[in-house]
Amino acid sequence: MKNRLIMIGLFGLSALTIAAQSVDVTGPDGKLKVSVSCESGKASYTITYEGKQMLETSPLGMNTNIGDFSKDLKLVKHATEKLDRVYTQTRIKTSTVHYQANELVCHFTNADEKPMQVTFRVSNNDVAFRYTLPKSGETGSARVLSEMTGFRFPDVTTTFLCPQSDAMIGWKRTKPSYEEEYKADAPMSDRSQYGHGYTFPCLFKVGEEGWVLVSETGVDSRYCASHLSDSDNRLYTIAFPMPEENNGNGTVEPAFALPGSTPWRTITVGNTLKPIVETTVPWDVVEPRYQTEHHYRMGRGTWSWILWQDNSINFADQVKYVDLAAAMGYEYVLVDNFWDKNIGRERMEELVAYARQKGVGFILWYSSSGYWNDIIQSPLNHMDNSIIRKQEMRWLQKIGVKGIKVDFFGGDKQETMRLYEEILSDADDHGLMVIFHGCTLPRGWERMYPNYVGSEAVLASENLIFQQHFCDNEAFNACLHPFIRNTVGCMEFGGTFLNKRLNRGNDGGTIRRTTDVFQLATSVLFQNPIQNFALAPNNLTDAPEVCIDFMKQVPTTWDETRFIDGYPGKYVVLARRHNDIWYVVAVNAQKETLEVEVDLPMLAGETVSFYYDGKNREPLRKKLPIKADGKLKLTVQPQGGAVLMK
Ligand code: CA
Repeated sequence: MKNRLIMIGLFGLSALTIAAQSVDVTGPDGKLKVSVSCESGKASYTITYEGKQMLETSPLGMNTNIGDFSKDLKLVKHATEKLDRVYTQTRIKTSTVHYQANELVCHFTNADEKPMQVTFRVSNNDVAFRYTLPKSGETGSARVLSEMTGFRFPDVTTTFLCPQSDAMIGWKRTKPSYEEEYKADAPMSDRSQYGHGYTFPCLFKVGEEGWVLVSETGVDSRYCASHLSDSDNRLYTIAFPMPEENNGNGTVEPAFALPGSTPWRTITVGNTLKPIVETTVPWDVVEPRYQTEHHYRMGRGTWSWILWQDNSINFADQVKYVDLAAAMGYEYVLVDNFWDKNIGRERMEELVAYARQKGVGFILWYSSSGYWNDIIQSPLNHMDNSIIRKQEMRWLQKIGVKGIKVDFFGGDKQETMRLYEEILSDADDHGLMVIFHGCTLPRGWERMYPNYVGSEAVLASENLIFQQHFCDNEAFNACLHPFIRNTVGCMEFGGTFLNKRLNRGNDGGTIRRTTDVFQLATSVLFQNPIQNFALAPNNLTDAPEVCIDFMKQVPTTWDETRFIDGYPGKYVVLARRHNDIWYVVAVNAQKETLEVEVDLPMLAGETVSFYYDGKNREPLRKKLPIKADGKLKLTVQPQGGAVLMK
């Protein structure tokens, strides 16, 4: 992008003498407007949509060890440029994106005449902005001490937020790992559960005016991952990781070489939830970090650990899950922790060879650790050190393993971002795909890293096994993710259970409250380019045939995603297209039966396969003609689901 700036609006010297300076930029359709101001030496911005205030005056700036860019600023010039580009992606909600935006670069200087730029990219419903420090003089690097960057909401706003946890707490001291519980429709005056603010993405409802989603993207080895502080007079600010993360090792303050930039902070704005659910801003403003020479195949997998747990990590049980994958026509089997001890490397080679002749590939689990937790699950200490990691990856490539799942990272510090990037980069050298668990939110990584295929960063399916509370709240959480966590990045949830009881025998453990059709719906509702479903070998004989048939053909990659209707935490109706097949799915978290008229232009006049809950909540399927106007009255039982497919 640099060197292509066209300077069109130089402020003259006389303009610098006035106290307030401001410049506006709108999206291509003119509805979304960002106004950047510099008043009494302080930089700020506001956002309106169709003239409605969505963000009030919110601060910009940062303090660094090469200069303070939080005060005594002057807006010395600005430049605008039109951006228009098309890119393709196989691992996000849509396969082809046409990104059109207006870019505004604001050039500030501080009291010492040192430069800082703020770049805004404004599309019809998204704002992305970042800071750039040019190289000036001999100084070649900068450390960012703090950011002033904030988001101030009108007082009618309510929030849908997930708290940042304390560091070094929870299972084997592995937190934070983005596995906390959301509060829906909470007032801004609520304090976060741990007092550390909230993890991205953060959803806000601006009264009856519309919706705003705040997140960040483009975080790699050159910055930390950030989160939002608790609000102070309706202002949420960018917060850096906590000193205690990574067992206290590693700096809180990010640093980069000059010229260098911060990650993009993104603000998605709409009158309705449609732009929130359909946004592609996490990928629009980032670039691939490297090209790959490998062809990575997306698909479905089975994994024994979710229902059969640690005791299933043995040769005989893994053969059963390879056979299940083959019977379902799935591409992968994921073998979870302790395979090195309980199966051993030689027999793993045998297992991989057995799976290969059945057309099934392997994904193997690793702990990231490391010195940042107390994990005993092995293999340990293979992924945190480049010498050992590359040796291991050579072996994985040699025996034909297709991917790795690396678990239990240490937090959001820059050194952990560097570890994620190094694992991805080394894995690509060896033709391996990478799934992260016990981890941070992905921030544009599908586009940045060609072998990145998923992150947990959510209270995932394992919690349904661990505690009845999460089964009781399964529908509520499922109705949040399409609007929040899963809209900004792929989510390796590991769901779709057809067991009624969540244990090995389907006869004990926690009780699933949601219907079978609800489970089918989440296989489409939750987006991750490789989905490891929670099916078990017994489901081939004890689950309704209609469900198994559906799960055999459900895809995991999408050409298009459309929001149909819904409200976070209550219900959602979503449509996704794979090639020319549309899947429309609905789930209902409310106590009452959902009756909603939906508009399905993509199915107008078609006869679809309709999966629905029967009187006894059993899964049924029938042919359903959709009227020529595409309108349909949809009924969904409490904790139930519906799927239309054509
Ligand atoms: Ca986890």
